[in-house]
Amino acid sequence: MIDLRSDTLTHPTKSMRNAMATAEVGDDVFQEDPTVQKLETLAAEKTGKEAAVFVPSGTMGNLISVLSHCGRGDEILLGDRSHISLYEVGGVSALGGVHPRPLPNNSDGTISIELLEKGIRHLDIHSPPTRLICLENTHNFCQGSPVTPEYMMTVGDLAKKYGLKIHLDGARIFNAAVALRIPVQKLTEKVDSVMFCLSKGLSAPVGSLVCGSSDFIDKARKARKMVGGGMRQAGHLAAAGIIALNDLVDRLRVDHENAKTLASQISQMEGIEVDESKVKTNIIFFKLAGLKGETFLQLLEKKEIKILMTDADEGIFRAVLHREVSKEQVEIVIETFKSILDKR
Ligand SMILES: *Cc1c(COP(=O)(O)O)cnc(C)c1O
Repeated sequence: MIDLRSDTLTHPTKSMRNAMATAEVGDDVFQEDPTVQKLETLAAEKTGKEAAVFVPSGTMGNLISVLSHCGRGDEILLGDRSHISLYEVGGVSALGGVHPRPLPNNSDGTISIELLEKGIRHLDIHSPPTRLICLENTHNFCQGSPVTPEYMMTVGDLAKKYGLKIHLDGARIFNAAVALRIPVQKLTEKVDSVMFCLSKGLSAPVGSLVCGSSDFIDKARKARKMVGGGMRQAGHLAAAGIIALNDLVDRLRVDHENAKTLASQISQMEGIEVDESKVKTNIIFFKLAGLKGETFLQLLEKKEIKILMTDADEGIFRAVLHREVSKEQVEIVIETFKSILDKR
């Protein structure tokens, strides 16, 4: 089976399994798990922040970040195609009483600075106070676009001018850094908090980290406890995360190359629309014409290939490259697409 539905499908490596089995552990709610502490220190170092906290999922990481920056009735500015806005069950409002104000995302994952500035509320009896800007990098639903350090800087200046905080949903921040060939710190320098996932392209089985100042992380740790994310001998999970950060970041380059190959080949096929120039990391979105989406999925599945249909009405699909899809398998996918489209 060649499964392109998501990079979350990656299994732990052999060395991860060994490290997990033999990890030194303790009760992490008492902050006595040495392996979790090692992972948190490493994560803080990589993102250039004072401290970090290990959480079971990216969704929880984003949620506790927003809960720690904002009180009930505060407003956050975020992209209308952002993961927080579309795929996190409305947690920030349902659980935090935080008012989300979605602004249109550009196709490169940014939000125009002008719109952001206009979106900041004036002090007025009618308005919720704007507290936080949420950005996403890479931007999943904007073709996995890596957002540049220049843009991050500009938003940093804007936030400073208006006394706002910035949270970065960096689920795939290492993909962004690898694609842009810069250290992660260049992308996290101006943000007050960043969440990233170990469980996607980095291949760990479970877990994400939230990084920020020591004071912020103290708050986030408490918020994590409140939403039920306090884990006990979590070092068994953290052990895989340490290997993910040390050994699996550089190879993300391979996934990006495979994504580019796939995009450039399918862009030449009749019946598929894909903007090849937008494919810069491991995510490809494409549009299918002249064939029912469901049919396409069934025909692929017969050849043991899985992809994700993100919009049945529009015929939009997502393919994500990861460690368990080799260059040779990418060739098989290309041939299979070709044969299905030729037979239409
Ligand atoms: C996957 C993802 C998340 C959430 O991570 P989970 O671990 O699945 O909860 C958040 N943001 C983005 C951009 C993601 O792609």
